[in-house]
Amino acid sequence: MPTVEPPRVAIVGAGPAGLFAAAALVADPDLRVDIFDRMPTPFGLLRYGVAPDHASIKAVATTLARVFESDRVRFLGLVEFGRDVTAAELVAAYDAVIYAVGAADDRRLGIPGEDLPGSRSARQFVAWYSGHPDAEPQPLAGVRDAVVVGVGNVAVDVARILLKDPASLSSTDMPDQVLEELRSAEVERVWLVGRRGPQHATFTTPELRELLETPGIAVTVEGCDLGAIDEPGLERHARANLAAIARAVAESPATPDRWLHLLFWHRPVELSGAGLVQAVRFEPTAPGGEAVTVRADLVLRSIGYLGVPLPGVPFDGGRIHNHEGRVLELDGSARPGEYAVGWIKRGPVGLIGSNKKDAAETVGHLLADLAVQPRRPLRNLDATLAARGVRPSDLADWRRIDEAEIARGGIRGRERTKIEAWHDLLDLVRAGQVKD
Ligand SMILES: Cc1cc2nc3c(=O)[nH]c(=O)nc-3n(C[C@H](O)[C@H](O)[C@H](O)COP(=O)(O)OP(=O)(O)OC[C@H]3O[C@@H](n4cnc5c(N)ncnc54)[C@H](O)[C@@H]3O)c2cc1C
Repeated sequence: MPTVEPPRVAIVGAGPAGLFAAAALVADPDLRVDIFDRMPTPFGLLRYGVAPDHASIKAVATTLARVFESDRVRFLGLVEFGRDVTAAELVAAYDAVIYAVGAADDRRLGIPGEDLPGSRSARQFVAWYSGHPDAEPQPLAGVRDAVVVGVGNVAVDVARILLKDPASLSSTDMPDQVLEELRSAEVERVWLVGRRGPQHATFTTPELRELLETPGIAVTVEGCDLGAIDEPGLERHARANLAAIARAVAESPATPDRWLHLLFWHRPVELSGAGLVQAVRFEPTAPGGEAVTVRADLVLRSIGYLGVPLPGVPFDGGRIHNHEGRVLELDGSARPGEYAVGWIKRGPVGLIGSNKKDAAETVGHLLADLAVQPRRPLRNLDATLAARGVRPSDLADWRRIDEAEIARGGIRGRERTKIEAWHDLLDLVRAGQVKD
């Protein structure tokens, strides 16, 4: 009797969404799963986005990594979709393909002066302090006044990192150069600016409180009268945010080390400066408001991440075109065998945990489709990649990187110190390949 090969699923992206999807798939005793990532390291934004001083959230990696214990799961790092492999090749080699590539770009303000040196995206800043090997250095010398445009959790993260005493970050996994840069910085003021009121801001209360409680800072509120906000039907979290802000303002020290200014109901209209950003002009967005010009040596725009189209995959409105995770052609017709999870499926919103439910929905549909889909002969992608000179890294390579980071941290009395240079990461990968 001819043997029937177990079904094979490819996942592109080893971030939280991809790993939640993999865990849901291997619950099926038959399936084999190959997880691809352009990095030699799994975990996506959990490794390269979640703030280094949020150790308890970082620990979710231990849960996510459990999926690698299955001998039906492979990790293929250093394989970039669009460069090393195409959609057609994956579809030919797997019974189903799940795209889990997250949102790799950011929204722009679209205003004059946005590209002046000193004006950067919060995404780049986050990538830098998280030790992403693609991140550009983010010099902070001479930065006294910083403006963060946006009032979401990412804005809160970058403001906190700028305002915190760097000594309190020295136990995190931040690369040495990053800690050095933060230690030599002399940030005095951070402005956090929102287009609407504090009751509409998307930051969550625990993250906001943590920022407001940064030791030694004074907090002011500009652009609105907190006490006058009395909208009917205000949600509980909005009320909690207002109370937290009011309390921080009332309890601010008389002689603070640093300042946090929360400016609401304003939008930036121009960045100006001679060669370097020096000021941001804001216009009011509410009747009766006044234009404000704020001194700034650094501007971080934090108005949202943005999905990047994958070549050959239908894309619409910053996401892969899909219905409940099933990829659709742009005209709405079915595109069997291709699926999406996480930020590239639903847009760049939601916490790590949101991706679990989201992945369960997609995997539910995938398994239902597989059950009725006739099997077809599959191509061997490993051979295609090898012929192309693409040599994927594997789990052993990731473990070597992991151990090297832990060892690096140990020397410094820290749990881990990130390895942030491509050549160091690749040396560790090659160390394994030589031994093979
Ligand atoms: C700055 C920041 C801080 C955050 N802090 C928190 C927090 O404290 N708590 C919390 O719960 N949530 C937090 N989140 C949200 C959380 O990170 C996301 O919900 C989650 O990471 C989204 O998962 P994802 O798998 O869709 O995308 P990602 O995490 O971005 O993973 C995508 C993966 O795909 C890979 N990839 C991308 N393109 C390709 C390609 N072409 N080929 C191969 N691989 C590719 C990437 O390398 C990456 O590994 C934060 C988000 C940000 C941006």
